[in-house]
Amino acid sequence: MAIATINPTTGEAVKTFEELSETELRQKIGLAFDRWQTYRTTSFEERAGRMHATADLFEKEADLSAELMTTEMGKTVASARAEALKCVHGMRYYADHAAEFLADEPLADPSQVGAVRALGRYQPLGPVLAVMPWNFPMWQVMRFAAPALMAGNVALLKHASNVPQCALYLQDVFRRGGFPEGCFQTLLISSRRVESILRDPRVVAATLTGSEPAGRSVAAICGDEIKHTVMELGGSDPFIVMPSADLDRCAATAVEARVQNNGQSCIAAKRFIVHADVFDAFTDRFVSRMRELTVGDPFEESTDVGPVATEQGRADIEEIVEDAVSAGATVLCGGRRPDGPGWFYPPTVITDITRDMRIYLEEVFGPVASLYRVADIDQALEIANATTFGLGSNAWTDDEVEQERFISDLDAGQVFINGKTTSYPQLPFGGTKRSGYGRELAAHGIREFCNLKTVWVG
Ligand code: NAP
Repeated sequence: MAIATINPTTGEAVKTFEELSETELRQKIGLAFDRWQTYRTTSFEERAGRMHATADLFEKEADLSAELMTTEMGKTVASARAEALKCVHGMRYYADHAAEFLADEPLADPSQVGAVRALGRYQPLGPVLAVMPWNFPMWQVMRFAAPALMAGNVALLKHASNVPQCALYLQDVFRRGGFPEGCFQTLLISSRRVESILRDPRVVAATLTGSEPAGRSVAAICGDEIKHTVMELGGSDPFIVMPSADLDRCAATAVEARVQNNGQSCIAAKRFIVHADVFDAFTDRFVSRMRELTVGDPFEESTDVGPVATEQGRADIEEIVEDAVSAGATVLCGGRRPDGPGWFYPPTVITDITRDMRIYLEEVFGPVASLYRVADIDQALEIANATTFGLGSNAWTDDEVEQERFISDLDAGQVFINGKTTSYPQLPFGGTKRSGYGRELAAHGIREFCNLKTVWVG
């Protein structure tokens, strides 16, 4: 894919960018490696000062970065502004908590191991490559970069090819926030060149947020190189509705959970699994709310759902919907692209889904909900756990026994009861199965790219 801003609302190419030459790329890796030799010795206070300064700039410029996001990938401008402010929150959170999360840890009773002192010390690893997706073009990067920089690592960003202006803004804002040259660098390169970076001995680890094929490739190369990785991959989160749920609140949240970010979120609820006793009542509420959404120009404050980010992305959604319909699924709303420019796809609800349909197992990255009727909690769990993914999960019930069952038996990295899966700086985030491994955010996230050094002093 060429590195370019292509506005998904119009389909027009706005700006194209030259890839880095091989010499430029090696210079940037060299700069990162050299910078790390000094940056690793800076104190938490110095790093926190720079992180706060960057957060202040980000806050002041939220409208500017929101405009970049909406232009490059089509999210509504209101949600883009919220994303910018979430980045600010994340930066301040790690600026304020990194020292506490990475403080020396007492290990065992020193006398039992024949020592005077025994402790664990978290130390930074070095230059880390982040391969990032376009769907949350600022937040996905920030939730890696804020903890990584606070820990004393330096960052190299290979962002998705359709969000180069977001990628360049991030590099620029960290520099203006006072981070020395080389602490955070954007690499404008195609994904074909990622392997050569991972093979470079100066790059010590990698994190990837994106699709399963991309994750498999990066993880395989890093496995070969024995380099640490964190993988945040796809999801097809279940949203289970049991009879005791507050149906009005639940249906309103279900709509938000499905169409957030124009339906392109890894933790969007994608499969709605509803107990037969409340299936009709939930479906009426859910479908009528999905129908009422305003689809249109993401720069309009009144728009709920903008375009899908890429032409290919919309074609993928259409294919999976057509596969289901041709095998007998029923479309309750949406299901057909509108005429006109831009890569719009309407909020869609599909039911009568069977196991042979692609939609039963695969992730749909757009505003398409699949709806299942189940007889009891066992069948709900069976369908919920039937995918190869295990990222987030949602269950709505006021029954405490059922709540415990979902917490225990949903095969996912996260379970939200009576709410929707959301990333918070304070909560660890990650998946199981083919949704990946490792954790971002909270104390767990900052420790991923640290060496926990065991220290024994006799
Ligand atoms: P993608 O194609 O995998 O792209 C993500 C990033 O990986 C981009 O920077 C892309 O670069 C790069 N890339 C692609 N193929 C690669 C390869 N073989 N080797 C190295 N890098 C490669 O993902 P997408 O389809 O745009 O994004 C949507 C996916 O991301 C969905 O599955 C979604 O669920 C997942 N996601 C997961 C999380 C999470 O936290 N778990 C969060 C957000 C999104 P180019 O753009 O240059 O191809």
